[in-house]
Amino acid sequence: MSAPRGAEVPELTAADAARGFELGPIRPPSEAQSLLVRVIRNCTWNRCTFCPVYKGTKASQRDVEDVLADVDAMAAVASVLHEKGWGAVRAGELPQESYQVELFRRAGERSVFLQDADPCAVKPEKLAAVIARVKARFSSVERVTTYGRARTLARRAPEQLALLHEAGLTRVHLGLESGCDEVLQAVDKGVTSEELIAAGAKVLGAGMELCFYLMPGLGGRSAADAHVAGSARVIRAVAAAAPPAPATRAASQAGAAPDAGPAHPFVVRLRTAAVSPGTPLADRAASGDFVLPDDVEVVREIRGVLDQVGDARFELRSDHSLNLLPELEGSLPADRERLLTLLDAYLALPPDEQALFALGARLGAFRRLADLDDPQRRAAVEAQLGGYRQPSPDELLAAARDLRARFI
Ligand code: SF4
Repeated sequence: MSAPRGAEVPELTAADAARGFELGPIRPPSEAQSLLVRVIRNCTWNRCTFCPVYKGTKASQRDVEDVLADVDAMAAVASVLHEKGWGAVRAGELPQESYQVELFRRAGERSVFLQDADPCAVKPEKLAAVIARVKARFSSVERVTTYGRARTLARRAPEQLALLHEAGLTRVHLGLESGCDEVLQAVDKGVTSEELIAAGAKVLGAGMELCFYLMPGLGGRSAADAHVAGSARVIRAVAAAAPPAPATRAASQAGAAPDAGPAHPFVVRLRTAAVSPGTPLADRAASGDFVLPDDVEVVREIRGVLDQVGDARFELRSDHSLNLLPELEGSLPADRERLLTLLDAYLALPPDEQALFALGARLGAFRRLADLDDPQRRAAVEAQLGGYRQPSPDELLAAARDLRARFI
């Protein structure tokens, strides 16, 4: 049987290492040390009102041979870095973008991320060829992940997603933003809550991990309750489609070798909403048509979501500097009470303490709620407040909310 397309690799040359390769502008924080392979340029939708990333750019598909050549170039760079170290970049022997290959190398060459906004829009056979080339060049790779749009994934046949999983795609990062149709329409997301559920269920059904990005605050003050209820509904529906936990399945099979899939197939990552300058959402905010919730209101929203997801099973992650409480992480439903207790502890603080913590978190002085009791950290934040004359809690929360835009 012949090797699948992409898996047959040509001999590398010094020219491959020097040639350079494309890097897209963003990747999730969890992919900071991944090899970045740019399959498609920019965003084919590009209309979400809150998103500044690709505004003013045009989307284009890359020729698959060019993407394979990029993988070859990165393999050649890795080989030179292995032999000569970073000095090869300083000497001009390797292109500047080799820094990402070096990060990947230092992390053990285990993880690969496909860029840009929706590589799943490429024909599955082409994407499978790219993954095959990645695996042929880097045999230690354990994880290949990608961004995906819900509408694209919802329209894929199960066999097409199975093909990608068999090729080695292990995780899809998908922007949920909101599960509320009213909010999705208001931000021009171009997907419906039913498409989000269908896409999530299909990704999990194909045996891959799913990572949803939820944006507390995106409904603005006016649609906060609907945003919470819709998002909890979508999370519940997608969690119901996830395969059973490994231990559960092992027990039910009474000793049979379990085929349990990934340990944490469904992850929800929090990305607190912020208004990015120059976006359509910023225009709405300037006209008063959209009011971004402050940190106390966002914490109430997250509490509402956790309250309404019931016994849904998923991992909650808070791994972005936009979030007020990085410690708000755990395995649901087991950790639900602990997480609700943490949120309630913040909500029970007097208004001036809530505001002090919010501002201190945005200034980088507070990482955990318990840091409020640290005299040195408090002093650092209060010193920053010297410029404010007797600010009210509302003024401080407004300042903390404005600071969010810095972290986009
Ligand atoms: S949020 Fe995603 S789909 Fe929307 S415009 Fe930005 S990159 Fe494109």
